[in-house]
Amino acid sequence: MSDAESPTEFDPTAPNTGEDFEPVDVFPDSDDFDLRPGADSCYKCSTCDTNCPVAEVDDEFPGPKFQGPEQWRLKQNEDDYTIDDSITDCSNCMRCDNACPSGVPLSQMHNTARGEYVSEQMDKLSVEYVRNRILANYRTSATIASKVPRLANFAMNFGPARWVMEKTLGVTSEREFPAFAKQTFREWWSSRGGAAASKENAQQARERRGQDRDADKKVAYFHGCYSNYNTPEVGKAMVRVFEEYGYEVVVPEQRCSGTPMFANGMLDDARRGAEVNVSSMADLIEQGYDAIASCTSCSMALRQEYPELFDIDGIDEVAANTFESVEYLRIHEDLKGDLRAADVEGDLAREFAYHAPCHARNQGLERQSVELFRDLEGVGIEDVGESCSGISGTYGWKAEKYEKSMKIGDEMFDHMDDASGDTGMTECPTCAMQMEHGTGYDIRHPLELLEAALVE
Ligand code: SF4
Ligand code: SF4
Repeated sequence: MSDAESPTEFDPTAPNTGEDFEPVDVFPDSDDFDLRPGADSCYKCSTCDTNCPVAEVDDEFPGPKFQGPEQWRLKQNEDDYTIDDSITDCSNCMRCDNACPSGVPLSQMHNTARGEYVSEQMDKLSVEYVRNRILANYRTSATIASKVPRLANFAMNFGPARWVMEKTLGVTSEREFPAFAKQTFREWWSSRGGAAASKENAQQARERRGQDRDADKKVAYFHGCYSNYNTPEVGKAMVRVFEEYGYEVVVPEQRCSGTPMFANGMLDDARRGAEVNVSSMADLIEQGYDAIASCTSCSMALRQEYPELFDIDGIDEVAANTFESVEYLRIHEDLKGDLRAADVEGDLAREFAYHAPCHARNQGLERQSVELFRDLEGVGIEDVGESCSGISGTYGWKAEKYEKSMKIGDEMFDHMDDASGDTGMTECPTCAMQMEHGTGYDIRHPLELLEAALVE
């Protein structure tokens, strides 16, 4: 007898009441199973490996595919699997994220694995751990050094002291420490009158521009550590350019963005900073501010790494409302048109060799400076190519990584040498250190050129 001759009682038109439904336990305990979206989408094309600057110069480094999805699979299958120590050779440049055609969250996997490696496998009394902790918490040393900047600048670059630091801590003596400013950005900001002065300046600018004096144009500035302690001129330029466009600037309480902590697997330190940063920025975002950063690694941290790694109230709102500073002006103002009508004279009327930091590439910002400045009268700008600068924050400061860092940077140094002029430009403070170290060029930030072109 065929099925057609003995139909079941199933009636496809009858509503499903769910009474006879018994749920199937597909994944017995969701805590045992990592189901991050994209984590298992790797189809082993190896594009990430061919784009990894560390793998390019170091045959021993297994590359992002192993560090990410392969290691992740091994961890799912072996209870006692330990993270391979090569995870500390990844510089966290995040180029593999950009390269993957399948949306595998490589850097999130690397950051998580590195955090696990450092917290569970690394000897907390080892020189490497202590050195990495000091480098990752740059803000702490910078706060102390900036109280006595002249003494700090002398002591940090005193030959015998550098030799001792290399021998005892493994901080390379090949590089010169960046100078601490005599007045931090925050000190300048307070002495200038803080948010009240900025509001007044912005209102006057709106009047000059024929805009409503009370227009709602306001931004919260995430200056990061380097603009505060080492290059306050970048922060000052940011404030003046934004005020010129009629934006009121506020400078909220903030800690390190966490970039050097992610790269060193210090996720607890990074979380503590993120909690302060997210809380400050989320409050302001609720009041109508947008968050802007002048360092592309800081904007990257707030936009991508925070929501990938932490669960903090307001984190998604902060990620969605954070912008790199020049990007923000490109979106909201006719920056290109204004630059086309402007010209630069004096100190910054130069030819610039521009390097796009890897973290700018990850945010799709790699062409913005070249496209903005190429029609600006009085300056020239040349892109020095796609290569990584090689320093990757604290990476190139480690004695055992120094040679590798310089080998990665070689291509950029060559292109800088080939470019016209002998001034570099980049948004990332540590790429700037590497550019200066490899070529001897003076390195400037795009905001400084915007200030020279647009602020009276
Ligand atoms: S690029 Fe993406 S899909 Fe290809 S091997 Fe790497 S992680 Fe896998
Ligand atoms: S983050 Fe950079 S160094 Fe690390 S695996 Fe990816 S491409 Fe290589």
